[in-house]
Amino acid sequence: MASDFDLVRATLSDAHPAQAAFDYLIAHALAAGFMLVPRTSEVRSIELQWPNRKRNPFSVQAHSGHVNFYLRRPILGEHPDLFDAAVAVFGPVRANSLGEYRSHLHDVEEAEKMLAFLRTHSAWPSHRHAQRFVAATFEPIRGAHLLAAAERLAAGGSTDPFGPSSDYDVLFNGKRLPPKAVFGHAASAALGFLVRPANFSAGETTFSFRMLRAHGYPIVRKGERAPGTDPLVSDEDRVWSEGNTRLVTHLRRERGTGLASAKRDAFRAEHGRLYCERCELDPVAIYGADVGEACIEVHHRDTHVSEMQEGHRTRLDDLQCLCANCHRVTHRELKAALLATGAQAVPP
Ligand SMILES: [Zn+2]
Ligand SMILES: [Zn+2]
Repeated sequence: MASDFDLVRATLSDAHPAQAAFDYLIAHALAAGFMLVPRTSEVRSIELQWPNRKRNPFSVQAHSGHVNFYLRRPILGEHPDLFDAAVAVFGPVRANSLGEYRSHLHDVEEAEKMLAFLRTHSAWPSHRHAQRFVAATFEPIRGAHLLAAAERLAAGGSTDPFGPSSDYDVLFNGKRLPPKAVFGHAASAALGFLVRPANFSAGETTFSFRMLRAHGYPIVRKGERAPGTDPLVSDEDRVWSEGNTRLVTHLRRERGTGLASAKRDAFRAEHGRLYCERCELDPVAIYGADVGEACIEVHHRDTHVSEMQEGHRTRLDDLQCLCANCHRVTHRELKAALLATGAQAVPP
């Protein structure tokens, strides 16, 4: 069921610059400690409430192509010159009965201009910590956002505005990447506006590190070696591959950092749930939501045995979601097909 907040947000056209402006204002309002009070009566709006007082100094009204940002009585009462200062920066407004100031904002740039104006006049919290987004703001980040960010950085892409890392590295396909840049670039892509260094922190116990690790990205201290980067982690793997380079390449390919989580997220987004593409087992229906998804593994499918070469970049379309049983059977078939082509398994 859609919450009042979702109903307000749904007023904005999807992927419109005004939607990003709305998200930007809400992310910063939560970071600054405001409570959100959604109203869905005539006009859909979110009131921003001061944490310790039941008064709403601002409100954000959603329309399809813009948001109206209101400076309301409580803030204008506390800052007597704020109304005139707003007129000087954003232009005059038709007076309403409450004497409020209203500004039309159409994109993130205009939203940031309003926040910068309010900070300058001490009408919005301006300490650095007030720009640190709450964890819920980062919920739209998916495995595919993290993977795209990591791939771009690994290919030599810019780390701006994050720069190099000082203490930690993300290990990604033989490269070391700055964790803040990986997470920050993924967040910018997911949220639709530029996420800056002040918007989140990095380091042990932080949300950004937890999320990177949950999606399969190892993070180590600088100079520290990778823990267990050998993709052949189980006895089953060793016996199955027998050191055959093509089979080892297969395992390495489908276990590339971040791939499995990106594939699962993409599959879930397309089908609404995870299930086995071969036998259609629905593990969540059988074992429950908490543990069922652990049954679904990611298999690299599209490469024919004869094309299993090194240096091939894996796309999500090359991957398939299989239950653990089907994955094992598929691997046996793959090995049998490989041996039938005459390729010799190298003895261990
Ligand atoms: Zn299956
Ligand atoms: Zn496989």
